[in-house]
Amino acid sequence: MNALTATSRNFNRAAKLLDLDSKLTKSLLLPFREIKVECTIPKDDGSLASYVGFRVQHDNARGPMKGGIRYHPEVDPDEVNALAQLMTWKTAVANIPYGGAKGGIGCDPSQLSTSELEKLTRVFTQKIHDLIGIHTDVPAPDMGTNPQTMAWILDEYSKFHGYSPAVVTGKPVDLGGSLGRDAATGRGVVLATEVLLKDYGKSISGQRFVIQGFGNVGSWAAKLITEAGGKVICVSDVSGAIKNKGGLDISKLLKHSVKHRGIKGFDGGDEIDPKSILTEDCDVLIPAALGGVINRENAKDIQAKFIIEAANHPADPEADEILAKKGVIVLPDIFSNSGGVTVSYFEWVQNIQGFMWDEEKVNSELKTYMINGFKSIKDMCKTHDCDLRMGAFTLGVNRVARATVLRGWGA
Ligand code: GLU
Repeated sequence: MNALTATSRNFNRAAKLLDLDSKLTKSLLLPFREIKVECTIPKDDGSLASYVGFRVQHDNARGPMKGGIRYHPEVDPDEVNALAQLMTWKTAVANIPYGGAKGGIGCDPSQLSTSELEKLTRVFTQKIHDLIGIHTDVPAPDMGTNPQTMAWILDEYSKFHGYSPAVVTGKPVDLGGSLGRDAATGRGVVLATEVLLKDYGKSISGQRFVIQGFGNVGSWAAKLITEAGGKVICVSDVSGAIKNKGGLDISKLLKHSVKHRGIKGFDGGDEIDPKSILTEDCDVLIPAALGGVINRENAKDIQAKFIIEAANHPADPEADEILAKKGVIVLPDIFSNSGGVTVSYFEWVQNIQGFMWDEEKVNSELKTYMINGFKSIKDMCKTHDCDLRMGAFTLGVNRVARATVLRGWGA
């Protein structure tokens, strides 16, 4: 199912549960602004290459729009639109004073040199610099981008507007990035897992985990799960998948994956078919890669008891229905992976205050936000007699709806 259809379907279900007026529903669903720009750069060999860049600003009722910029061959307008919408509900669930946005460039970053990536990022920034800003729209890293990408955006933006570190988050610490931001999404995923399991009288220790994706989010989650006594038995990335029933040695796997640019060839487990990773026997499944991977084709074969959505929209509504019938508990993306944007908020606050927090403060504040978020979701589940996905959606949508109504339409 198309990402936008899936996200909008979840939104519409929440709007119905909340009994929102149809005009308000329409206004909440439509994006505030969609930007599409052409980015042409000279490649290292002297030839020209053109790419299409997007920024969708979905909603700003609760504050500046916020969300990552991804570099990926499959970036398309519908997907960016869906991801921007998810950011609106995510920042509201996290209860941080932001709206939602998302951006992307359709390119394969692994095929571009560092200097080509820098040129592409600078050209993209030149095209959108007037539409982003500290109190307007604050980009951050996402798939295929990283702190270096944010440093280039910051530098290019500053040429037009003066030095403004708070215009992007997820920056290198040397440029005002926050301690703990790099680990934040993965740490948030693990904190979310902890509160969910606790609710079921369980803990991370002793559970068997399968993680799809070993990028920033998946690798941090794997490391922190192992530290908490969990057993990561299966991991995959674009290069392949690896399994060890006794538990993978994550610190060795991390070293291997940095050295060989992927987990393929790791000798601490058996190679398996990456396609089968989602249906492996385990207690907790963490999809931490692409969207739409759990769908009506494979949902029935999932063996996990819990799914923690570290990726954005990994499971579509058709899969949700099948999983619910099987009794699988799904902790939704707009809560599970909100640790990244929450620490982005801490970074922005530190930049604006001109005061740096230590890592302990960042991590303990994050923990408080994750615990509070889960409590609020559970309250909505009780009020509306619904699952965790609808609990999170009703929580987020209701907060945005209230802000929208309070501000009015100014017509
Ligand atoms: N790209 C991340 C997300 O999807 C982080 C966004 C941010 O920090 O603004 O939530």
